[in-house]
Amino acid sequence: MIDPRVRTLDFETYRQVIRDFTDDELIPREHEMVAAGAVPPDLVRRMSELGLFGITLPTSVGGLGWTVEQQVLLTFEFTRSSAVYRSRFSTSIGLAAQILLEYGTDAQRERYLPAMAAGECVMAFALTEEYAGSDASAVRTTATRTRGGYVIDGEKRYITNGGWADVLVVFARTEDGGVSSFLVDRDTPGVQTRLPELMNGHAEGPVAEVSLRGVRVDADRLIGGVEGLGMTHAMRGINQARTHVAATAVGQATRLLTEAVRHAGEREQFGQPLAEFGAVQAMLGRSYAELEAGRSMILDCAREFDAGTPPRHRISAAKLYCTEMASVVADRAVQVLGGAGIVGEHPVPRMWRDVRALRIYEGASQIHERNLARALPTLLSTTQPARVG
Ligand SMILES: Cc1cc2nc3c(=O)[nH]c(=O)nc-3n(C[C@H](O)[C@H](O)[C@H](O)COP(=O)(O)OP(=O)(O)OC[C@H]3O[C@@H](n4cnc5c(N)ncnc54)[C@H](O)[C@@H]3O)c2cc1C
Repeated sequence: MIDPRVRTLDFETYRQVIRDFTDDELIPREHEMVAAGAVPPDLVRRMSELGLFGITLPTSVGGLGWTVEQQVLLTFEFTRSSAVYRSRFSTSIGLAAQILLEYGTDAQRERYLPAMAAGECVMAFALTEEYAGSDASAVRTTATRTRGGYVIDGEKRYITNGGWADVLVVFARTEDGGVSSFLVDRDTPGVQTRLPELMNGHAEGPVAEVSLRGVRVDADRLIGGVEGLGMTHAMRGINQARTHVAATAVGQATRLLTEAVRHAGEREQFGQPLAEFGAVQAMLGRSYAELEAGRSMILDCAREFDAGTPPRHRISAAKLYCTEMASVVADRAVQVLGGAGIVGEHPVPRMWRDVRALRIYEGASQIHERNLARALPTLLSTTQPARVG
């Protein structure tokens, strides 16, 4: 539940609370999380008390009502800590909540959104399958209409929070031939989840395989009560999620650069700190320039999002740029650390592995490149000079 005092804070005060939470609790407890192999439950409780599950939702449904720009500024703060913390609430606040907010029936919104904002109901977004990865609309999971509801059959994979979410947003093909989205309680008979043995990054927040065999849901679990709109629903959530992923890349790169700068200042070779070597300065200076470019890019998209329509292609460009940038910054941070970037428990190598996934989910980099290239003739012909002021 969100601490009632949090609701009285203005944005800058709230941002400071989240900054302090990141510096005083999330970052210092990363080692404990790694040792336990999971986010400590009391930290998840703190996240919900501080309202992190409610940052994308309006006050009318129990959220904190921050704008997209403010959400991005907050994401810059808490993603200076392990990206695994964020993944505990990201699918709920980004993908699932936005779908329900815009397309859910009144009953669905009332039933789920206040509980989601409070962190009392966590949702996962179950779209990806073996044959439907980048080609997301190729889902083979089926939802067959029965008296009063549907029976869902299929296999999903790589589902963030799939192992412990209360509710799964499941995308399945309905008899109209289109894809529809359903709210499926994870404890419904026929739903089984399995965690992978090994993760390359995000090890403390593994994705799940979700098996759905003869899963019966009532008709009121069809999101919006209309069949065939599943991909429209997925895209609405994805614009918001991509904005948050780009901001996450900026937060992660900020921390990686901070760690690299600290190490370069402390470690001496040839009688001087690494930070005095021109080659190291080049890596650090260039990283800062690229980090700031990414920060400006996604903030600008967020402002346009707030002004009306999400700028789909510019969000795609920012997601592409920021996630690639974070990988480059991570790689340079490992280089600056030398052997300590490969051996031992320093956060940089762990984050180096974590940021790699950002270039794969919410559209692999090549999908963004392809979509942008295809849209370029239109994009370039409508590009306006940058706003001033
Ligand atoms: C950590 C993590 C969390 C995830 N969380 C979720 C989740 O919560 N819910 C969910 O539904 N899914 C989730 N996913 C799945 C993710 O969305 C998919 O992994 C992603 O869409 C890519 O699909 P794929 O893995 O099947 O790769 P593929 O589609 O097989 O693609 C592999 C590679 O081929 C290339 N490629 C593919 N198509 C093209 C093309 N048209 N043009 C050029 N190159 C191409 C790209 O380089 C791509 O990286 C998650 C994945 C990861 C790694």
